[in-house]
Amino acid sequence: MHKTDPCAENPSDDVAPWCRDRHGRAYSFEEFLVLTQTFHGYPAPGVVIGAKMVDIARKRIPPGVLFDAVCESYKCLPDAVQLLTPCTAGNGWLRVIPLGRYAVTLFDKHRGEGVRVHVDPTRLDSYPETRYWFFGIRPKRKDRTDLLIEEIRQAQESIYGVQKVYVKPALLSKELSDTRAICPECGEAYPTGHGPLCRGCRAETAYFSKEKIE
Ligand code: ZN
Repeated sequence: MHKTDPCAENPSDDVAPWCRDRHGRAYSFEEFLVLTQTFHGYPAPGVVIGAKMVDIARKRIPPGVLFDAVCESYKCLPDAVQLLTPCTAGNGWLRVIPLGRYAVTLFDKHRGEGVRVHVDPTRLDSYPETRYWFFGIRPKRKDRTDLLIEEIRQAQESIYGVQKVYVKPALLSKELSDTRAICPECGEAYPTGHGPLCRGCRAETAYFSKEKIE
């Protein structure tokens, strides 16, 4: 859906929006950079790329389908999903499965049919800065970041691979049970379905130690 503005001074520049949010509002590339700065703290290339990936996926989801999202990396991608779709980490419609791959899937939350979009390394040959960024090769420098951002804009949809996927049933269902038990080890409440001990006490905790101060 290309919309041209006959009054635009440079009609060849940014004719199509970079992405749209959950309300259908279109963002130009520059507008989305500002949004990224506000939400993410700086105009991260990964969020800008992620927005295009989300846009590509959503355009392939039939209208009216309620979708959930899966990101395969914690880096940047979840912020693009949260900026542009109703799916957030907090409402449970966005899941992150940290496989380390730069890929996002939007899928029918009831049937599991969905679209997976990833950065395709074989399509980066014409975009050297993007390639360096993707493979983590160069140290981050401001002048290179500007080049990288410009490359991402010029590449439009050309550097992404798109796949049709069927998401596993485990991702379609909610938490096994909402009932909670008291963990005999730490004394905190946790979902009963997790087993006899909470996950924190089964060596999945984020802390070296935990000492009560209040
Ligand atoms: Zn515990």
